[in-house]
Amino acid sequence: MTSHSKTYENVNLEFNKAADLIDLDPGVRKILSKPMNEVTVNFPAIMDNGEVEMFTAYRVQHNNFLGPFKGGLRFHPMVDINEVRSLATWMTWKTAIANIPFGGAKGGIQFDPTCCSPDEIQRITRRFTYALGCTIGPDFDIPAPDVNTNAQIMAWILDTYVSMLPPHERQRSYHVVTGKPVDLGGSVGREKATGQGVVFLIERWAKDTGLDLSQSTFIVQGYGNVGSWAARLLGAHGAKLIAVEDSTGAIINPKGLNPETLCAYVDETKGVIDCPDTSEIDHETFLSTKADIFIPAALENQITAETAPLLNVKLVAEGANGPTDLEGNRILHEKGISVLPDILCNAGGVIVSYFEWLQNKRSEFWDLEEVDAKLHKIITNAYERVANEAKSLAVDWRTAAYVIALSRLQNVYMGRGIFP
Ligand code: GLU
Repeated sequence: MTSHSKTYENVNLEFNKAADLIDLDPGVRKILSKPMNEVTVNFPAIMDNGEVEMFTAYRVQHNNFLGPFKGGLRFHPMVDINEVRSLATWMTWKTAIANIPFGGAKGGIQFDPTCCSPDEIQRITRRFTYALGCTIGPDFDIPAPDVNTNAQIMAWILDTYVSMLPPHERQRSYHVVTGKPVDLGGSVGREKATGQGVVFLIERWAKDTGLDLSQSTFIVQGYGNVGSWAARLLGAHGAKLIAVEDSTGAIINPKGLNPETLCAYVDETKGVIDCPDTSEIDHETFLSTKADIFIPAALENQITAETAPLLNVKLVAEGANGPTDLEGNRILHEKGISVLPDILCNAGGVIVSYFEWLQNKRSEFWDLEEVDAKLHKIITNAYERVANEAKSLAVDWRTAAYVIALSRLQNVYMGRGIFP
């Protein structure tokens, strides 16, 4: 079994655990346990050497009962249907907990963008968008950045999508993607939004538990968009970043690393390894590093039955999607480590995507202060709902977050009924 079929199994275990707890309506349970639509496309692209390569990609639309399908698009060699199913399902729970009018979807192209030139990535992105056709749409399914995708890639999707439309429909379809460059209708604050949301919740948790962030230490796994923004924003509170791991290896400096300097280093070298003034450590040593906060901001299944016992932190703030499996979550709970679960903690990205979508639809342009204030309000409200639910049901925060999502979806299904 590949790790992603395990990931999807885990998604269903988490879902069933919460569904049992609230005695979810059997019909609603059947509906939510499967994605609504799954699209697989195989398409060609011409590489720089003139040869044709075939690519496989997916878009899974899990649910749109609360609003249009919404979710990122990732480029990674390990992308497969079960990973995309898992990520799409988590998006449904995430948007329901945040209380924003979107459903859940996710997409991915199975390839390694680090081995391709920018021109090749552009041709692959555009041909993929063409292959998807009207699978996506500004009021139907709206992609956004995820692992290895960014504002530039959203710009290519936008341009390809609108170029396929009749001219009179082009101008009003810019909200087909979010996370666009600001000049093309993107929102200020979207690039840092996921990391910003993580830090807003860490601030709130620190306040509730009496942790002085200016005296605290933290470690980060993954130094892409989410990890690097979270590190920079938390660093601005005086919190000390002491160890970082990414796909190139793990580094430590007990005296503290400068998150901004590390960002510039990673931009140049494409990884954290060999960063000046740090020592290299192995994966186990990284996970065992004593700190106040651990921010996993890379891929799925990092905190498991094997690795959870190693953690020596007070809080795990999940910037990544699915970094902790069910067994890992149980062990963290037993060890008394607090967890801000992914479907709450990393919702900042999709919340500001919602703001971008609204601004596009209304031809408005909000400033950073407004975006940040609205994000703060939505994500801390969600935090309070999850905290209260966890307390009243005496369950861990992840289970409480699931209960909120499933209850909201159940209400809507019961109100509307099943057609015909
Ligand atoms: N890829 C991000 C996530 O996993 C953002 C999704 C979006 O903005 O639609 O939440």
